[in-house]
Amino acid sequence: MIRSLTAIALGLLTLPIPVTASAAAPETVAHEEAAWSFAIHGGAGTLSRENMTPEREAEYEAALQGALDAGAAVLRAGGSAMDAVETAILLMEDDPKFNAGRGAVFTWEGTNELDAAVMDGRDRSAGAVTGVTSIKNPILLARAVMRDGRHVFLSGAGAEEFARERQIETAEPAWFQTEARREALERMKADRVSAYDVDRKFGTVGAVALDQAGNLAAGTSTGGMTGKRWGRIGDAPVIGAGTYADNRSCAVSATGAGEYFIRVGVAQEICTRLRLAGNTALAEFANGVPEGGETMLTEKLVEGVADAVLAEVEELGGDGGVIVVAPSGAAVFSFNTSGMYRGRATSEGVNEVAIFAEE
Ligand code: ASP
Repeated sequence: MIRSLTAIALGLLTLPIPVTASAAAPETVAHEEAAWSFAIHGGAGTLSRENMTPEREAEYEAALQGALDAGAAVLRAGGSAMDAVETAILLMEDDPKFNAGRGAVFTWEGTNELDAAVMDGRDRSAGAVTGVTSIKNPILLARAVMRDGRHVFLSGAGAEEFARERQIETAEPAWFQTEARREALERMKADRVSAYDVDRKFGTVGAVALDQAGNLAAGTSTGGMTGKRWGRIGDAPVIGAGTYADNRSCAVSATGAGEYFIRVGVAQEICTRLRLAGNTALAEFANGVPEGGETMLTEKLVEGVADAVLAEVEELGGDGGVIVVAPSGAAVFSFNTSGMYRGRATSEGVNEVAIFAEE
């Protein structure tokens, strides 16, 4: 069953409120806050209260709240969606509880190979890296690739060389390694089980944002799957699979069994369906949106579309989840696992973090 929740929806056509000043107004003009919206995830998977101590649960909630608050503060202050995404992901990459940056899962060979991507909904510029082993914060490298603009997707040694030219901070292998992730690899090898069996809590991190200027951005960062081999690349850095943003529709970051998310093209599929549905809705409401109608529409659109695309993943045999933010301010979670580390905050006062499906 797909479970999804929709945060406050502010209307399909919410626009930033312009700040105007009369001649007599003082130099500093009070800034009226336009709508913003933010959502994060720290991975989806088999998460149950029975397998989680209250202390551990509190640690995760605090980590999620810290990342959510940091990103929301950027948006509240009028910062860009992309800066909010980067701010939150940096914190989660540095936190060993998540499978990104420090705390990344191990490959079959006992190394950590990191993937990350960002996308800017204004012009659909994007940057992604895969298989980097010495970059402390892969999300910064992905953003540098986007800024550079010549290429979208860099891999391995070439990506590391590009990082050195840009003086992006590196770290020794020990920085990324944690005991818990090493044990997962050893268990996988000893029990001859698949990554899906040892790794039921995926732990990838992601963020999506709508800023006060009406721009969307998405980012995702991960160590991939325990025991991955042969240069395996998951969905997270694949633009359109695990990460996508387009101001005309939505911003998406995914987590889960990457092979299935690539095959469905999850992130772009959600955005495309929303864009087409939005066009239809606009045509229908050409003579004016009925009172309250836009709120219903937005909730239904975003939630329904995210659920439908996740259902396709499930049909193929995959599990995981997505976070989606739309231009209306809707912030939606959809996942078919028993839990997803997640949080959302909006200019309307929504501020919450959650782990289990029933929350
Ligand atoms: N989607 C990621 C991958 O397949 C794994 C995750 O979400 O944790 O690499």
